[in-house]
Amino acid sequence: MTKEIDQRVAAQIKASEKFLVVSHVRPDADAGGSVLGLGLALKNAGKTVQMVLADGGEKFHYLPGWEAILEMPSGAADMIIVVDCSDPDRVGSVLADYGKPHLVVDHHKTNLAFGELNVVEPEQVATAAILFDHLPSWGLSIDADIATCLLAGIVGDTIGFRTPNVDAELMRKAAVLMDLGGDLSKIYNEELVMRSFIATRYWGAGLARLEYEQSLVWTSLTLADKDEIGYPSDDDADLVNVLSAVREAKIALIFVEQPNNSVKVSWRTGPEFDVSGIAYQFGGGGHAAAAGADIEGTLADVKRRVLRETRKLLANNTH
Ligand code: 5GP
Ligand code: MN
Repeated sequence: MTKEIDQRVAAQIKASEKFLVVSHVRPDADAGGSVLGLGLALKNAGKTVQMVLADGGEKFHYLPGWEAILEMPSGAADMIIVVDCSDPDRVGSVLADYGKPHLVVDHHKTNLAFGELNVVEPEQVATAAILFDHLPSWGLSIDADIATCLLAGIVGDTIGFRTPNVDAELMRKAAVLMDLGGDLSKIYNEELVMRSFIATRYWGAGLARLEYEQSLVWTSLTLADKDEIGYPSDDDADLVNVLSAVREAKIALIFVEQPNNSVKVSWRTGPEFDVSGIAYQFGGGGHAAAAGADIEGTLADVKRRVLRETRKLLANNTH
């Protein structure tokens, strides 16, 4: 049984020729895998597709089709689709010359439903898993390359099937994607295990000043670390996922100093807390177990404010 919204999406896809498929700035594997999975499926259906990530596609060099990812779209589009993105600000400036998206596909509980049509399913582990469920009812099929991209999104957002929302049904979806040709071992290693030497040294800078206090573990990465080590991006090289390995901590945080007097903050926690609300409060968003925000201010100032609010969250939950 196809839902009404699927019928509307299918009809609009059928009637459209030129597509923009876009995700958020600082894309993670679910953003990249979803842009590529949907983009390749539309291409296979004979559509003209611009796949767009503001930071480019280089990070997804292990996924099929990454070379075609653009940093900016150009020309007209009949249908604009935003994937894995909870609010329009997070898309960055790539859609500045375009109107409201025709379709938003996402799984963030903080999603603002900013599309004309919104397929938002917060109970799903990844946007890629939503695409797996819906592509057939949108008239699009999943080949081996698309399966690899969708599996990449699922592996990324579940940190290798480790998050508490992983259930047997998800494993069956992953198994179907492998049957279709998805290369699990390759993407697992590329996404979650392999790091450049420089990224590993950058981790070292953060780990050297790791702090712990009453169930909170945190560290920061400064612009000076980035310069000194030669780390090329503004992200944390996934160091926050290393911090969440600290057994004593209930919530892990990382503060990454940015060039424009702001700080990128990431929260990670286990099943008993929900950090999406606190990220939202600071202008960001995310999921119960993983959330982030870009916060204006100096590193010291943002750290103080965020740690204070996060301690309140801990205090309210611990009885
Ligand atoms: P990370 O901390 O790895 O950047 O992100 C964790 C989760 O929070 C991801 O699902 C990501 O999309 C979301 N997230 C991170 N930063 C922001 C932000 O600034 N705004 C919103 N809306 N979501 C964010
Ligand atoms: Mn996601």
